[in-house]
Amino acid sequence: MALGIYVHLPFCPYVCPYCDFAKWPMRRSAASAYLDALRAELAREAPATASTIFLGGGTPNAYDASTIAALVAALRERFAPPPGASQEISIEINPELVRAGDFEAYAAAGIDRVSIGVQSFVPSEIATLGRKHTPADVERAVVAARAAGIRSVSLDLIFAVPGQSAQSWRSSLDAALALDIDHCSTYGLTVEAGTPYEGWQAREPSAFLDDAREAELYEIAIATLESAGFEHYEISNFARPGHRSRHNANYWANGEYIGLGVGAASYREGVRSVHTRELATYLEAVTAGRPIPSEAERLEGLAALGEAIMLALRTAQGVELAAFKERYGVDVLERYAPVVATYRDAGVLDLNDGYMRLTRRGRFVANDVCGAFVVFA
Ligand code: SF4
Repeated sequence: MALGIYVHLPFCPYVCPYCDFAKWPMRRSAASAYLDALRAELAREAPATASTIFLGGGTPNAYDASTIAALVAALRERFAPPPGASQEISIEINPELVRAGDFEAYAAAGIDRVSIGVQSFVPSEIATLGRKHTPADVERAVVAARAAGIRSVSLDLIFAVPGQSAQSWRSSLDAALALDIDHCSTYGLTVEAGTPYEGWQAREPSAFLDDAREAELYEIAIATLESAGFEHYEISNFARPGHRSRHNANYWANGEYIGLGVGAASYREGVRSVHTRELATYLEAVTAGRPIPSEAERLEGLAALGEAIMLALRTAQGVELAAFKERYGVDVLERYAPVVATYRDAGVLDLNDGYMRLTRRGRFVANDVCGAFVVFA
């Protein structure tokens, strides 16, 4: 089974008002102390082989490229690729922070996949999201990544942004497709508790799009990207053939992963754990050589199976029924008969060729359908 490594780099040039990730404004001293802590945490890990490494954030390219290259070298020393197999190494970047030579340094370090946080190409929406890049920054980043030989270039876009229309959403999708990209992730905006957006929504609920309008924008994304030759291989993800994210595919296959850094999640030997989201607590624990405070839960029996079904249903492949029976010892169709019947009758779940999948209509209610398998006991 593949192993994925996730490394959280939590510093950002500024903090976006909708963001719920573990992140802090970039400060040199904190960023340097954090890197030392990451290295110390890495040194605690037993050497292993890993199929994928993912540098996420935060804004990983808030660090300079030579620092990123040194970190990747340390990670590869501890987590080598499996014998005879390639290793996918991804980095998330903010387009406005790209400097000359960054992608060359990344490519030389072995990074072969870049995910660019774009969110929108419409200046008013970029401002609403509290971001500061321009469409020209994005274009420059894609061109530079290509010129450096990065194998896969991905863009992240957000729909259901306050003030967004079908027309403006189409224009962002078209602008993305006008660039030479291999992969696109589209996420519906969610208003998270404790963010400035939560307060805005409470004051002015009409500024936010309702479910019907959000579904309309999602439909536009699917139609536009599919007709441009992208496979809709997961609820939020589209790829040209050969460019699916292997790192994320491992999550959806309920594979094992190790998360390093503040707030990072791991899944090993049936135990899901999440490190503290308090930066000071993380730094203190690692520096003192103590265990990192984490919340952990062992997923067993039906809890593990429900989770695995939920993840697999998000993918275009769906749940491979025979493989699930072999891995979990349970006949999914028998065990979940009432749930399957309800959603099949509703036309959102399909059984075909030994697989259980969401129908096209089912993609719009994926959270409800997937969630039903988790709570059914
Ligand atoms: S750049 Fe990304 S991680 Fe940083 S605050 Fe904005 S949304 Fe959050």
